[in-house]
Amino acid sequence: MKKEAVTFKTKCPECDAEIEVPEDVISGEIVSCPDCGLDLEITLDEKGAINVKPAEIEGEDWGE
Ligand SMILES: [Zn+2]
Repeated sequence: MKKEAVTFKTKCPECDAEIEVPEDVISGEIVSCPDCGLDLEITLDEKGAINVKPAEIEGEDWGE
């Protein structure tokens, strides 16, 4: 029996590219848009629905 990977599809808010999100994604996980490279934070609401929002990295400098 082949287990199919279940993914949710969502769209990049920046460039509208299609992004696949694994079903077992955890809230707070960051995925990157394959097209524009935007970092998106995955959040799960109380119903388990997946939402994405641009990841905001505040006060954090990743260096040169
Ligand atoms: Zn994008």
